[in-house]
Parts: sequence; C-alpha cells; structure tokens
Amino acid sequence: MTGKHDPCCEGAGSPASPRLWTVDEHLADVLAAVAPLPPIELQLLDAQGCRLAEDVRAADDLPPFDNSSMDGYALRTADTVRATEQYPSVLAVVGDIAAGAADLPKVGPGQAARIMTGAPVPPGAEAVAPVEWTDGGTGTGLAADAMGAPVADEEVRVLRPVAEGAHIRRRGSDVTAGDTVLEAGTVLGPTQLGLLAAIGRGTVKVAPRPRVVVLSTGSELVQPGEAAGPGRIHDSNSFTLTAAATAAGAVAFRVGGVPDEADTLRAVLEDQLGRADLIVTSGGVSVGAYDVVKEVFADYGGVARGGAAGFSFRRLRMQPGKPQGFGRIGGGPGVPLLALPGNPVSAYISFELFVRPVIRTMLGAPDVHRPVVRAATTAALRSPAGRRQFLRGRYDPAAGTVSPVGGEGSHLVGALARADCLITVPEDTTALPAGSAVDVVLLTD
Ligand code: AMP
Ligand code: MG
Repeated sequence: MTGKHDPCCEGAGSPASPRLWTVDEHLADVLAAVAPLPPIELQLLDAQGCRLAEDVRAADDLPPFDNSSMDGYALRTADTVRATEQYPSVLAVVGDIAAGAADLPKVGPGQAARIMTGAPVPPGAEAVAPVEWTDGGTGTGLAADAMGAPVADEEVRVLRPVAEGAHIRRRGSDVTAGDTVLEAGTVLGPTQLGLLAAIGRGTVKVAPRPRVVVLSTGSELVQPGEAAGPGRIHDSNSFTLTAAATAAGAVAFRVGGVPDEADTLRAVLEDQLGRADLIVTSGGVSVGAYDVVKEVFADYGGVARGGAAGFSFRRLRMQPGKPQGFGRIGGGPGVPLLALPGNPVSAYISFELFVRPVIRTMLGAPDVHRPVVRAATTAALRSPAGRRQFLRGRYDPAAGTVSPVGGEGSHLVGALARADCLITVPEDTTALPAGSAVDVVLLTD
C-alpha cells in the first residue's frame, strides 16, 4: 500500500488482508439501499419514456360525438334508396357543417347538409355520402331569407344509395367512458401520450427519471476539446458514465474533471447534492497517495449518518473494478453515491454491474438487470483465481458464439468501444478452452 492510510475499508481484518466481497454481495447491498422514487405528476411531453404510476381511465367517450369520416353530405338513407348515376336523388342542402361546429341544422326528408371530416353528424341524418358519390353540389353556398333564416340555395345530386351509418364514426367506438385505457407500468411513448391528450389529460402520474450527477475526479483530467498537455489525459469517464446513465433511463448531469483536492471536491459535492437522486463518481477509490475521494466521502457519510458506517469502501472479487465505494452523503436521509474506480473499462463495467441496476430500481423498471445469454467462446480465456472476470466481447447471436475484443487491460477504451457484451468467467475458473460455454451480458438495449 502506498501513501496514506485506507480511511475505511469496510470489514477489514488486518490492513494487509482486507475482506473481499463478491460481485453478488456488493450488488445486493447496493440495491438494498435504494428504492423506487415516489411518483410525480408531469406534463405530457415531460413524461415521455416514463412509466405510468396510475391506471388511466377515460372520463368520456372517444370519439365524443358521432362525426363524419369524409367530406360529403349528411343525409337520410331513405332518400337515396333508388339513386343511380342516371337518376340521382336530388336533395336540398340545408346547411354547412365544419369541424368544430356546435350549431347544427336539422336534416329532414329530401334534405342534406354539407359536412366536413370530423364535423358532428347533424340531427336527422343517418349517413354521410362522400363528395365522390355526389355531383359535388350546385350553387355557391347558403343564402338567408328576410328573417335571417338559412335558405338552401344549393342542391346536391347523390349518385348511389348510401347505407345506414356509412362514413359515420360513432361516439364511443374507440374508447368508452370509464374504460382503463392505459395501465400502471406502461412506458409512455408517442402514441400513449397522444391517447392521454385525446382523452383530455394535461398531466399524468409517472415514475420520475432519477437525476444522476456524474462526476469524474483526477488532477490529470482535461476536458475534450482542450489540448491535454504533458502528463494529462482527456476525461472520458464522465462522458461514458453520463451517456450510460441516460441510456439507463436517468436524467444525467455531467460534472467533469474535479481535481484531486479535498476542498474542491467537497465544494462540488455541496453544489451538486441539491439536484441529485444519485451521484456517481469515478477515480480516487484505490490506494493511491492522492485518492482524496475516499477521504472526503468517508467524512460525508460519517457526518450524515452519525458515523463512518454511512460510507464504505470495498474490494470485490472481480476484475476489472476491484475497488468500489458506496453509501449516502449529505444531510437528512442523504443521497446515494457510488464511487467507481477510475480506469475507464473498470468504471464502465462497474456502472453496468452496479449503477445501472440502481437506476433501474429507482425507476421501478421490471428489467433491473441486463439480459445474460450462454454462448461458446471462440478463443481460449484466462482469468485470475478467486475473481469474477468480465472480458469485453462481441456476441454473434446467429452462431451462438462470443469473441473476446482487445486484451485484459482496464485502460483499453478502443476495444471497449467495439464490444457489445461482457464475457463472464466465474471466480473458480482460471482457464477455459475455446468452445467453452460462458455467460454473456448483453450491453445492447
Ligand atoms: P484512479 O482510480 O483515480 O487511480 O485512476 C485510475 C486510472 O484511470 C488512471 O490511469 C487515471 O488517469 C484514469 N482515469 C481516472 N479518471 C479518468 C477519467 N475520468 N477519464 C479517463 N481516465 C481516467
Ligand atoms: Mg485518480
């Protein structure tokens, strides 16, 4: 161990042989510390992609009234029984009904009303003849008599019989008042939001997206777009982790490149606590001399929870991603924080294994974990004893095979970007010949 003491390695025996935790133990502890966020009422478009937290019932019928599905003439069917192209039925046009009209003419025997798509079917009418089934009407519209009452100045010739109900969209034919139109748990996409709008809902109760603050630590970090300079590297973790949080369903905020200075880190955390349901950090959790993250989080957890037990650092039986920290920081119940190792591959795999399930749990999603499939490895694999290894791979579903991508190094971001899955090698396995069946965690949604 280099540098200063290890501030709180939970469950440590002697400093030389701290307890190692399994991936499953750590995941169980992390998930036990979080719960679905309480539902909130959102405007429809703010709820896109969210899961409904209520059964939605329609207050009214849809359509709310009988209306025309065509531009044409609303009429009585008896008037068209003998209509042909040669001997059309000639009807007097008694009105003109636009979509949105509230004042409707009454259609009597021998009469018709010009009607537009979506306009209410007037009293007396039993069907709509589309314009194409007529001569299109004569004259230019309506005149008024001396008393201001409408007088038909137009006739329409109907060229064929029109059946009862033709081209009428009946009230309630889509949705009946009282129907459950969407069930709790439904993810709201464009058509579900449209349905909510159609039944008149302005807001809806949903499981909110967790607000996740992603913060990368390291005095060596330079933001992309700026020249790195000697000894410096570009901060990639904050981008990977923020994008991964968004993909998991969170609203993610990226805070890149906090230097390894305890005061600065404390100040940034203070700033971020207010907008976070979850904080994810990268870097500073191993045993290096400048790993201030451990120091700062141990303090925070301790203050918030009345003791150092509020935040713990562990070593896991996994590769990569051995050092992990988690707990709650800040006042009151605190905000859950997962402190991931800084190596880019370790940070990403740790996110997939621990942070993504936390976000999915907060969302109340049924699919908390990534799908795992069995596949035959196309290459021989090696793995350290006592560690569950996660190798980057490419999965071929047609062949049922998986091929390792790149090497084992946890700095290999080039290979990581070509991978679409993680190949798992169990703790007790140190070597697997090509063709062996392995568990494969699929990273594609
Ligand atoms: P640490 O866990 O802070 O000791 O970092 C381990 C390794 O990961 C070092 O080589 C760091 O330079 C690298 N690293 C840490 N944070 C980042 C980051 N945000 N982006 C890219 N590499 C990082
Ligand atoms: Mg560091």
